[in-house]
Amino acid sequence: MNSELRSFVEVAPDSHFSIFNLPYGIFKHPTQGDLRVGVAIGSLVLDLAELEQRSVLGNIGASTPVFSNSSLNHFMALGRSSWTAVRKRVTELLNSECPELQDDKTLREAVLLNQEDCEMQLPVEVSDYTDFYSSRFHATNVGTMLRGADNALQPNWLHLPVAYHGRSSSLIPSGTNIRRPLGQLGPETYGPSRAIDFELEMGFFVGAETRLGEPIPVARAADHIFGMVLVNDWSARDIQKWEYVPLGPFLAKNFATSLSPWVVTSDALAPFRRPLPAQDPAVLPYLHWENDCTYDIELQVFLTPEDGNDRVQISHSNFQYLYWSIHQQLAHHTVNGCNVRVGDLLASGTISGPDKNSRGCMLELSWKGEEPIQLPGNNQRVFLNDGDRVTMSGFCQGDGYRVGFGEVTTKLLPAISD
Ligand code: MN
Repeated sequence: MNSELRSFVEVAPDSHFSIFNLPYGIFKHPTQGDLRVGVAIGSLVLDLAELEQRSVLGNIGASTPVFSNSSLNHFMALGRSSWTAVRKRVTELLNSECPELQDDKTLREAVLLNQEDCEMQLPVEVSDYTDFYSSRFHATNVGTMLRGADNALQPNWLHLPVAYHGRSSSLIPSGTNIRRPLGQLGPETYGPSRAIDFELEMGFFVGAETRLGEPIPVARAADHIFGMVLVNDWSARDIQKWEYVPLGPFLAKNFATSLSPWVVTSDALAPFRRPLPAQDPAVLPYLHWENDCTYDIELQVFLTPEDGNDRVQISHSNFQYLYWSIHQQLAHHTVNGCNVRVGDLLASGTISGPDKNSRGCMLELSWKGEEPIQLPGNNQRVFLNDGDRVTMSGFCQGDGYRVGFGEVTTKLLPAISD
């Protein structure tokens, strides 16, 4: 990487959106009102639809416009050579050494918008959504609470990345509030869930489809991955506890899952690759790739009580705590011939670390209520109260710059009374 690279757009050292990042998102144009693809740079959005219309992007391998769109799917479907071409061209246009955009005031005013004026949408039209369970710390903590320390991990856990099929219809963008869900909480109990929890997760989007019957070898999985977002997998623990046997999560999970708006590409994350933690027992050959890796992504969770002014950080984790890699997840998902499509979302599962403050959900942070989370002003939580806001943030720390995901923030509203 060229560490001398600098944008003519001012980017604070703690901004998530340095020139090394260039994440893609869908924004509503502040004056035209239509939905478009943009790239975040500092506190601005670069309007790719406008650049494409003015033929400034050059040949990106598309026969029809892809950026005047309400999702990234058309762009993703073009494939990696187009992803590389656009990233290269956008880097060039924003480079402080390049006069082309920098010195053209008319063009600059047409294509650079303030982020705060742009309403962000879901970045991708998600075909299918799968949620894994890939943190050993999380699985061990939850298993210990449910079954005791001796049977914490189920016999399959160290042999395959466990997952369930989620639901794409209830994926929501950051900033969309959710209602406390109603449901069965036990054999005679119906009403609003009393145990609403967040799950700190990340997810990746499939950018290259496969045919039915065609597995993705683990060593080729990276070719199919476009980029990543932050995921908050909302969970109703009381509904979950009653319903999950024998087929797994259902209504406890599918009432809402929140996504951050900017998709950070695999290219931007590449400098933050780290070796995958050791796996013992050795995995089967179809899950083994000698170059397998994870990413060093700092993760934070903040809680803002409705009656409190300031948000309080309640968790500090890292993506590299995960046991299973995203490549193993994709290889496992397709080993039986299950096909994937452009826009599929595969999420990690709750990302917990080894320490108490690195636990990625309230069930673990409060150890099922035995150790309530302490907030300022003699305030405490086991699960979320109505009016609480949960905000997740994540970034890779470079030398004097960041490659970040921004935030995913959601407020919990009271249940609709029946
Ligand atoms: Mn989950």
